[in-house]
Amino acid sequence: MNRSDYILELVEMATKATPKSLATGTNRMDGGVRQGNSAFVQLLDIKISPAFGTKMLTISSRSKTGWIQSIQLFGVNVAQTKEELTGKIITLSDPATKKTYYMNPIRQGESGIRVSCNCPSLRFDFSYELLQQGALGRKFIPYTRKTPPPPLGRPYRNPNHIPGACKHILRLFTLMSNTGMFI
Ligand SMILES: [Zn+2]
Repeated sequence: MNRSDYILELVEMATKATPKSLATGTNRMDGGVRQGNSAFVQLLDIKISPAFGTKMLTISSRSKTGWIQSIQLFGVNVAQTKEELTGKIITLSDPATKKTYYMNPIRQGESGIRVSCNCPSLRFDFSYELLQQGALGRKFIPYTRKTPPPPLGRPYRNPNHIPGACKHILRLFTLMSNTGMFI
């Protein structure tokens, strides 16, 4: 294995989460509440940034209320020309730069992912769990619970420590599914 293959492997190993595992984890954690709420989220300034050499794709956006979200996907085949790819190819247009790329659809159960959003839900419900999986795409901000344990205090937000994502990231997943990026 040469050095660049080795670095590639590290990049792909760095996270244990996939888009599918985060979506199903979230639904398992809250019974589908965030998935339902995500339908009402509007995302603006969507920007798609491929890194061709490392098969990494970054997609960022901003919600109407100002939360900034970003997802990084690993092992994604994106290219500047169709000829560089084989198999099923879709066209990817970056709304920010108007650039067009080509890619193989992302296998959402296989592609490694890192997510970030600066909203309270991602921080308080999932950031610790995402960190444990190498799937937190931002600096971890530790927090200390200020109320006593249940039943005296409020219930734990994520008692079974299931990795998942906020409604903004779930919305981004839906948009990606709708454009054929996910299979
Ligand atoms: Zn969020």
